Amino acid sequence: MGKVLVIGCGGVAGVAIHKICQNSEVFGELCIASRTKSKCDALAEKLGGGKTKITTAQVDADNVEELIALINKEKPDVVLNLALPYQDLHIMDACLATKTSYVDTANYEPEDTAHFEYKWQWEYREKFKEARITALLGSGFDPGVTSVFSAYALKHHFDEIHEIDILDCNGGDHGYPFATNFNPEINIREVTAKGSYWENGHWVETEPMEIKREYNFKGVGVKDMYLLHHEELESLALNIKGIKRIRFFMTFGQSYLTHLKCLENVGMTSIEPINYNGMEIIPLQFLKAVLPDPASLGPRTKGKTNIGCIFKGIKDGKEKTYYLYNICDHEECYREVGSQAISYTTGVPAMIGAMLVMNGTWAKPGVYNMEEFDPDPFMEALNKWGLPWEEDFNPVLVP
Ligand code: NDP
Repeated sequence: MGKVLVIGCGGVAGVAIHKICQNSEVFGELCIASRTKSKCDALAEKLGGGKTKITTAQVDADNVEELIALINKEKPDVVLNLALPYQDLHIMDACLATKTSYVDTANYEPEDTAHFEYKWQWEYREKFKEARITALLGSGFDPGVTSVFSAYALKHHFDEIHEIDILDCNGGDHGYPFATNFNPEINIREVTAKGSYWENGHWVETEPMEIKREYNFKGVGVKDMYLLHHEELESLALNIKGIKRIRFFMTFGQSYLTHLKCLENVGMTSIEPINYNGMEIIPLQFLKAVLPDPASLGPRTKGKTNIGCIFKGIKDGKEKTYYLYNICDHEECYREVGSQAISYTTGVPAMIGAMLVMNGTWAKPGVYNMEEFDPDPFMEALNKWGLPWEEDFNPVLVP
């Protein structure tokens, strides 16, 4: 049994914390710390009384000294960072100072530049090795489960993988003309950026939403999907030896795209500060404040998600294709933990990553992406903890 410190108390953390409390044989103690302590207290009150002992704290995760004091006081075995990507490096610094292992779900992004990549966190590799602690990066669904799926496919089904298409389909309907399923600021920064994919050893850049395909998703039906840049492409291109092409597609409905285009055209998605009535505001942050809180979508969302990877490669000298995916039902997630499936599909793998680091299964000094560890224990845990996977040995390929 061990102790986890969860930083952040939003949509994803809410699910991870439910799952931590369901898994009290591993997580004997939990501290929930976030900017707004009242949210931590409300969740602790809702889940308290079970076998996992819960405490709460207020912390500004941009303040390394505050983080160090909190970790020294709580003495967790692992810190699970479920705040925003802007906080990653501060929390990693505090973990280094206190020699505590670290897990997150999204790679670092500077707050003033809409650009994410692993270089900043990979620069911590030697420091984590020297401190003899583990940092596990990207333990959500995508990245996270998609990375584990890739390692699993390579271990059990291929001698070489040549192509991976990651397909992220959300067939859920929340009834609003426009809302985002996770933090609106992070979501909009991601989808308004240029797209890109990896091909024959280099990046090919596209305009935002330039490449569109249609796909018939099991459990959902036919959807339009668009090529985006996504963070797991960067580490998979490095870690899946012999890979020739990796692409990432996400489904979007027409209403979402029309609203987004309009908001973009009028400047509401900009992260450049503007002066409004003598006050400096960032349009995207103001937009976040007027959009529905993703946590409020839970009771309204119906339908399913289907997220997975289609692999193409060689086994025993023959060409082979293989599709690994999970289907998750928004309403079932809400009944179980009070959240919609986007938070659920991220919160469950976050708990599993923290568990595997904490119980030593995935503990290795240094900074690692998910596909660098043995996928089998994680795949087993997905089936056990609410994200069972399915396989298709003759999938329809994406043109
Ligand atoms: P939310 O906005 O719902 O929650 C973020 C939480 O972090 C809030 O509780 C917020 O506090 C807290 N927080 C923000 N800044 C600070 C700070 N400086 N100090 C302390 N706490 C802070 O986001 P989500 O739950 O939707 O997303 C959480 C993470 O999960 C993000 O990094 C996101 O990118 C990632 N993600 C990963 C996915 C994957 O598949 N890999 C998919 C979806 C999300 P407050 O309550 O005060 O606002």
